[in-house]
Amino acid sequence: VKKNGKNNFIYFSHEMTTKAQKRLYLEQEIRLALANDDFHMVYQPKVDVKTQRVTGAEALIRWHHPKNGVIPPNEFIPVAEQSDLILKLDSYILDKVINQISQWQEEGLEVPVISVNIPSREFQRGDLVSCVQGTLRKYQVVGNKLEIEITERLLMERCEENIKILNHLKDLDIHISVDDFGTGYSSLSYLVQFPCDVLKIDKSFIDQLPQSKDNCKIVEAIIMLAHKLGKRVVAEGVETEVQYQYLSSLGCDQIQGYYFDKPLNIKDFSIKLDKIKFK
Ligand code: C2E
Ligand code: CA
Ligand code: CA
Ligand code: CA
Repeated sequence: VKKNGKNNFIYFSHEMTTKAQKRLYLEQEIRLALANDDFHMVYQPKVDVKTQRVTGAEALIRWHHPKNGVIPPNEFIPVAEQSDLILKLDSYILDKVINQISQWQEEGLEVPVISVNIPSREFQRGDLVSCVQGTLRKYQVVGNKLEIEITERLLMERCEENIKILNHLKDLDIHISVDDFGTGYSSLSYLVQFPCDVLKIDKSFIDQLPQSKDNCKIVEAIIMLAHKLGKRVVAEGVETEVQYQYLSSLGCDQIQGYYFDKPLNIKDFSIKLDKIKFK
């Protein structure tokens, strides 16, 4: 495995020069990895700003390829999204995460809301709701332990249809969060119509806080808007004390980022969880 200048791994041979060949190779490898159960999930805590307790976590996929080393999700998720593979991958992820929640509960741990990224492509399949519902039932986990992070793009596409699906998910008590908020083009009227509970401010707005006055204004406006609409706000990619203090002063509800924790493996994350106290 070689590294190129942009810090990305080159994991294809010289013959595979075209983008299409690289994509095909990755597709095959994803299929194989699914069959071999080569993926695993890590969990990044979301911390409540007021209490500083872990009140949530985002499940993020990791792939340690046996020959090519670590392949970051930003490289293989888009490939999976170009084919039906993403549907298989998402069912696989949902199964893994919900199974994990039930295992932690069996160990007597108090599990916070765990969020899973669901690409908008997934909403075009007919059976997202029944897939989620079936998996919850399989592991006997209640819906309000689960949150789905949707992209802002979903607020635009097939509007009526998507609202219906989200309402079905809400009927199962599942939380809905709008990921990377501020980077897309969601119109405010869609935002009002959409049954979502949380807006997640993208890292790109957090990075230059509080130096960039423009970003300060944007973040302040998003937090005000969210609260006016009765939604909670999470900031992702929070790396410094200064950013944390600033977001806290604006009334941001939850923080996710290296300032508190990197994404953690199962064992390290479970250490963060409290034991359920029986009276
Ligand atoms: P995202 O959903 O916006 O996830 C946040 C990314 O920011 C994660 O990178 C996370 O590790 C990283 N991050 C969190 N806090 C910090 C911080 O303080 N500093 C910095 N520099 N980075 C931070 P990751 O895990 O590499 O994921 C990248 C993207 O890949 C995600 O962006 C998401 O779009 C996609 N992805 C990851 N896991 C999954 C998955 O299970 N399913 C799907 N569909 N997409 C996934
Ligand atoms: Ca996310
Ligand atoms: Ca995000
Ligand atoms: Ca992001």
